[in-house]
Amino acid sequence: MVKKISAIVFFLCVLPLYSVLAQSDVYPSKVITIVVPFAAGGPTDAVARVLTRPLGAALKGQIIVENVTGAGGSVAAARVAKSPPDGHTLFLHHIGHSTAVSLYRKLPYDPIRDFEPVGLVGDIPMTLIAKKDFPARDLKELIAYVKANRAKINLAHAGIGSASHLCGMLFQSAIDTDLTTVPYGGTGPAMLALMGGQVDIMCDQTVNTTPQIKAGTVNVYGVTTKARVPAISHVPPMHEAGLPDFEVAVWNGIYTPRGTPKPIIDKLARALQEALRDPALRQRFSELGMEAVPESKVTPEALRVQLKSEIDKWGPIIKRSGVFAD
Ligand code: ASP
Repeated sequence: MVKKISAIVFFLCVLPLYSVLAQSDVYPSKVITIVVPFAAGGPTDAVARVLTRPLGAALKGQIIVENVTGAGGSVAAARVAKSPPDGHTLFLHHIGHSTAVSLYRKLPYDPIRDFEPVGLVGDIPMTLIAKKDFPARDLKELIAYVKANRAKINLAHAGIGSASHLCGMLFQSAIDTDLTTVPYGGTGPAMLALMGGQVDIMCDQTVNTTPQIKAGTVNVYGVTTKARVPAISHVPPMHEAGLPDFEVAVWNGIYTPRGTPKPIIDKLARALQEALRDPALRQRFSELGMEAVPESKVTPEALRVQLKSEIDKWGPIIKRSGVFAD
């Protein structure tokens, strides 16, 4: 009898562990979706699409991208937080995952509690651009013109909490001028509006702006990093061009819903590390002005630390800015 009970207890203890390990052996068992919280044709979408091939190869599975737009990324985050935690729904989000919690009064998810970090992906500088016929040749002229004509100038962004929104807020505060802002579901559509002359200026990631800057279809006034960006090395950093403390880079990470089994997270993190080593991916990233993070940061722990410290960093800044959304 005692033997029989011990055997049952043994199986009850070992079975769940066995099934979790087995889960990771058969993972992925169906198509994996990377949810992108912004519109197709924008920077986050571009990063996801560059990742799908090498990440799919590393996981020996198929990956598709789904764009879920709205509220600067929060609509997608809320959706992912409620998705099955089986590793088949991945979430690629950027700095906005750390700022939404301070910007939105009612957020239907918690960026720390409801997600499992997988790893950081890369950092993307931003650029300040304007429509082609905007009457300013450099940053100093742009600032003077914007200040003198603020009532008729509008600034595009990808929703409250998006990188373009944060950078646009920093710009308005740096020049002490409030502008009319125009939100889009992503800077893919915002870029089309800017090129079509419906909006005037925008802060956007090099992944989206580099091809336009190179083609000369937009005006560019500065990059938001201390160092120049090799892909567009003629563009001066904002701090050299006239705004000394202007610095912002867009960090990106991959998450899964809370409760995803650890063996699956570990498998995903290893696959992400392998994908980020891929020479074609690295070349594409650098053509777009993006830098993959060092491999030591492509881990759940590094992303957890980054997310937490960015939440702590942005909270007081946003509180002081007085910008909140419902
Ligand atoms: N990442 C957004 C996009 O892909 C833009 C932003 O955050 O500003 O459209």
